[in-house]
Amino acid sequence: MQITRFINAFKRLETPFYFYDLDILDQTLRTYTKFLRKYGYQAHYALKANANPRILEIIQRAGLGADCVSGNEVQLALDMGFDPDTIVYAGVGKSDKEIRTALQGGIFSFNCESVPEIRIINELASQTGKAAKISLRLNPNIDAHTNKHITTGRSRDKFGISEWMLDDVLKEIAAGSNIKLVGLHFHIGSQVTDMKVFELLCQKVNDFQRWFESRGIRLEHINLGGGIAIDYNDPAGNPVSPFEAYFQTINRTLEVRKGQKIHFEPGRAIVGQCGYLISRVLYVKIGKGKKFVILDAGMNDLIRPALYGARHAICNITSLSPGQEAYDVVGPVCESADRFGLSVKMPVTGRGDLVAICSAGAYGQVMGMRYNQRDLAPAYYSPDL
Ligand SMILES: *Cc1c(COP(=O)(O)O)cnc(C)c1O
Repeated sequence: MQITRFINAFKRLETPFYFYDLDILDQTLRTYTKFLRKYGYQAHYALKANANPRILEIIQRAGLGADCVSGNEVQLALDMGFDPDTIVYAGVGKSDKEIRTALQGGIFSFNCESVPEIRIINELASQTGKAAKISLRLNPNIDAHTNKHITTGRSRDKFGISEWMLDDVLKEIAAGSNIKLVGLHFHIGSQVTDMKVFELLCQKVNDFQRWFESRGIRLEHINLGGGIAIDYNDPAGNPVSPFEAYFQTINRTLEVRKGQKIHFEPGRAIVGQCGYLISRVLYVKIGKGKKFVILDAGMNDLIRPALYGARHAICNITSLSPGQEAYDVVGPVCESADRFGLSVKMPVTGRGDLVAICSAGAYGQVMGMRYNQRDLAPAYYSPDL
């Protein structure tokens, strides 16, 4: 485990806190951007996965644009120096205020999710005297075979424009004098482990593209969204996602037109593995047929296990005990859902031990909240410790 080299620094700090190993972030970005260059692809980092300025700065310097899902994310991306021409903005419920922020910012594309949204963007664009570039977020009706809470591309999900809406969408676009259709956008879910899902997505994109071309519409870009998984079971063994297999699958399956640009929106796969939630053991409590390890970190610090039943590798990083035991690892928050793992095998654990919850860089700190009036966990970064 790479983080054991930081244990002496951790011991001096008040817990819980997030720790980001920026070497892992760098290694991930180097690998990811190598494939972008190889295939001539472009990427927009999904800010919602982790929006810490320190991390955004590194991602922006690596040459990625920004994928935003709120007006405040658009504003943050602009403030952090992302080129407006690399900012995309998706979301089923863009408010007028948020749309105005993005129009003012002159972003690359509004990824539109409904007919009424397209109408309002056109209206607001005409008021500000600016033309809006829009792409259509299409719902390809694919099951991403991931957790039901994070699949977004089936027709029963709220996201995107379904095939049967397309005629109305084209009428709306034709009627709008302040919008320009520049591309198609897809995002079918998150933590997608099966490359076949991406293959299926590309086949659907090929069909959609032919549909548009048969109506005389040429698309400047295709955006395939994010979703590539990280290895929550073995983060130390696989700190970087299988980008090679992913991009190979896309390159092999997607039919790209001359001059057309292919875009991506990775979130989790960029920042997931560089982050850890570090916590101290408060108590070991004997339960009925089990032992609880009670941490000083709770679901307010990392809500994924409580929210989606997500699993993270959990390691006692200070116990020197050679013996192993199984523990239910829980937090102090007054909710039974406040637990990080059941029957987790760890070295014999006692009060004061430090526990690392791994793969917490994405959808971790950014979802932190102050339930029970708890403090928000601070962040520390590897070169500083
Ligand atoms: C959340 C989101 C992403 C990023 O998804 P990951 O699974 O973290 O890669 C990309 N695009 C859109 C539109 C999103 O909402």
